[in-house]
Amino acid sequence: MCITLPAKVINTNGTIAEIDNNGRRQSVRIGTTEPLSPGDWVLTTADFLIKKIDDLEAREIFSLLGHYQDINPEIIDSKLKEILSARGQRDLTKEEIVYLLSLEDEKSLRALYSEANIIRKTSIKDHICVHGIIEFSNNCKNNCLYCGLRRDNKEKITYRLEPEEIICTAVKAVNDKGYKLLVLQSGEDDWYDEQKLLDIVSGIKERCRVFLYLSIGDREIELYQKLKQAGANGILMRFESSNPEIYARMHDGESLAERLNRIKELKQLGYIISTGPIIGLPGQTTGDLADDILTMKDIGQFMPSMGPLVPSANTPLLNEQVIDSKIILKVIATMRLTVPSARIPVTTAMETLYGMEFRQQAFLAGANSVMLNLTPEKYRNNYYIYANKFFDQEKKYEKWALFKGELSYQMLENELQMSI
Ligand code: SF4
Repeated sequence: MCITLPAKVINTNGTIAEIDNNGRRQSVRIGTTEPLSPGDWVLTTADFLIKKIDDLEAREIFSLLGHYQDINPEIIDSKLKEILSARGQRDLTKEEIVYLLSLEDEKSLRALYSEANIIRKTSIKDHICVHGIIEFSNNCKNNCLYCGLRRDNKEKITYRLEPEEIICTAVKAVNDKGYKLLVLQSGEDDWYDEQKLLDIVSGIKERCRVFLYLSIGDREIELYQKLKQAGANGILMRFESSNPEIYARMHDGESLAERLNRIKELKQLGYIISTGPIIGLPGQTTGDLADDILTMKDIGQFMPSMGPLVPSANTPLLNEQVIDSKIILKVIATMRLTVPSARIPVTTAMETLYGMEFRQQAFLAGANSVMLNLTPEKYRNNYYIYANKFFDQEKKYEKWALFKGELSYQMLENELQMSI
């Protein structure tokens, strides 16, 4: 399901309405029987007016998504102008990506975000996709340096959802609330053996129609094959850093090449892949971030998965400095320029560090989806990848989400070029 900015009716003519869509005049077909007058707020898709809303409701949606502001390209420096105009004709080079990530002055940054936002609106529909994540276990046998779920964190209160509880949570999210894409996430937890995982995936797929991502760590390839046959559609597995030294430092000396290989193998099995870096790891340079963006592009994916390092309690990186939110916005915007059709989510980690208003800033810099937490409330605060996570506003997003029926399945299937 997805959420869209309100537009204003200028006039109507039988079945067609002329609207002001955030400064752009547009004609849309009227798909509601409610009477419409000039000045009414309405919700629309690309060319279809779906619903009339009142002033208060429009304000509530603007408070979730923010106002877009395009800027005049004439005010920016010539090198930036050249990169922005080259983007449509050819791939950006690493040097150009580094240039974009190094921008500091406010004018240039506004131009970058504005361009990313224009690309978002023209390459994919002008909607914010609303997806859900269920964090079903915080047990993990690994010891990644940055992660609050690491096995050496003896302070965490562990929890596991029973398979039936996971199935019920997912089915309720899809059948009652309208979610079409869910992520099932856990630490690398062998308590969920082959049979349990197969039961969970097939149990969900038998009871509802949903695009199902798994984020369960580096399990055997044969298991992933069976999970695919049982109905899993996507894998969320980050490569964390395209710099092999940083990767090895974070993962007890493991190799980046193996991780990338595993991601490739999963793609060959037919999974849709979601992957990306952690931004702000110690020793990471702007050149590394540019490589991260190019790696995400090379892997080719529907929905990149990237987020800031959140220095967490009981981890060796607790005292690392929190990375400036501006860098995250620059990575989002540059990723949008590099892969125009990517579904770029605002992740919980971003909101944890920078507050709920970061969601809006990220949308205005080219992000186009949000991942809401659907973990049953009694477990949520024990998922210690990071503390103080934000769980507010889900209900408002769910309330204003459009396309909860067949149309949204069709939209998602068209985008993914696969049936769910
Ligand atoms: S990042 Fe994943 S694999 Fe590593 S410790 Fe955390 S949950 Fe485990």
